Amino acid sequence: MQLRFLGGASQVGSLGMVLTDNQNKVLFDYGMTPADPPEYPLPLPPGLDHAFFTHAHLDHVGTAPLLARTDAEVIATETTRRMAEIMLEDALKVARLEGYPSHYSAKDLRKLLGRMRGLEANETLRLNGSEVDLTPAGHIPGATMYLYRGSKDVLFTGDVQRIPSHLVGPSRMVPCDVLVMESTYAGREHPDRATTEAELVQAVEDVLDRGGRVVIPAFAMGRSQEIMMILAGRGLEIWMDGMARAVNEAYLKDHKGLRDHRAFKKALEEVNLVEGMHERFHVAHHADVVITPSGMLDGGPALYYMGSVARDPKSAVFLTGYQVDGSNGRSLVESGTITVGGVKLRPSCQIRSFDFSSHAGHSELLAMAHEAMPRKIVLMHGDKREILKQDLEREFDVITPQNAESIEI
Ligand SMILES: [Zn+2]
Repeated sequence: MQLRFLGGASQVGSLGMVLTDNQNKVLFDYGMTPADPPEYPLPLPPGLDHAFFTHAHLDHVGTAPLLARTDAEVIATETTRRMAEIMLEDALKVARLEGYPSHYSAKDLRKLLGRMRGLEANETLRLNGSEVDLTPAGHIPGATMYLYRGSKDVLFTGDVQRIPSHLVGPSRMVPCDVLVMESTYAGREHPDRATTEAELVQAVEDVLDRGGRVVIPAFAMGRSQEIMMILAGRGLEIWMDGMARAVNEAYLKDHKGLRDHRAFKKALEEVNLVEGMHERFHVAHHADVVITPSGMLDGGPALYYMGSVARDPKSAVFLTGYQVDGSNGRSLVESGTITVGGVKLRPSCQIRSFDFSSHAGHSELLAMAHEAMPRKIVLMHGDKREILKQDLEREFDVITPQNAESIEI
């Protein structure tokens, strides 16, 4: 049995892995990196039988439409299938607006979505001489791990989080021979989730008490809804803008994808949705709290709202997610500046970051390995894999492959 990474082996982005055995040739994830310019994985190999998608973040699903040009059967959970439609249509729009050539056409995308098969969260799929089980990955609604049961049992985690959130329950690890595990947070730990939630609520109340307004840049899929659920029910005037609104709609229809659909619905009923530019202007100058993409302040309505609070020391911008190197969010945290339309600004409002990561931290990754008790661990999807490798090597055989390298497992 062989594994080969088409991308994302040693970076958080553009993930793709091909598993080949005597019976099947299957792909797990096929993403892109929404950088400037965007990055893509290696081309698809010929003869793929199946392609499995763990979830609909762009670094896992962003190049999936190219599968429309192959005969592979395309599989995801039903929730991921719905989310992929929103994410990929938006990505195509963004590529057009920013003038980057897209790797796929609108026709490829339509064909892919028509062919993508949506499975239930705990289903088993029969392939030629083997089976594939789905097991929950936590992370975001719809995220799944895949256990390929052939001559060896190989578990591909995608992105994984063991700690439950308001939106999704924890991951459920299963025993396997080979564990192919993400390592985004190798070497780093997260603070206690309940404490961070209480700190965010207190920080928002402090800003409002002093007469300011709060802008919360958040990723449209998952993080925006999680922040909404934390802040709802406290008498705050909360607004949401951008693509998060389309995701809300999709989650609302998806009774099985969420941990507590009723709680989500209740929170959503308390939130106001921004409709149109006129309302956006009003909200920017009057709302208590606005939750809006992009989460890294690299585009979307977040920049508009940022502009409305930037010169007000009473107001605040609270970042809620990972800020990649080179993003406005990272620059804001590290040097207190952002660049909008080529102009560098130094906002005088309060800037603070909160860690609501939907990835497992270092000790959770170690705990997952102990639950799975594999013979071999393949670390992927992280730029600090060596730190995790050192800890795991005391008990396990650990491999850190590079892109394009074929490894025998
Ligand atoms: Zn993800």
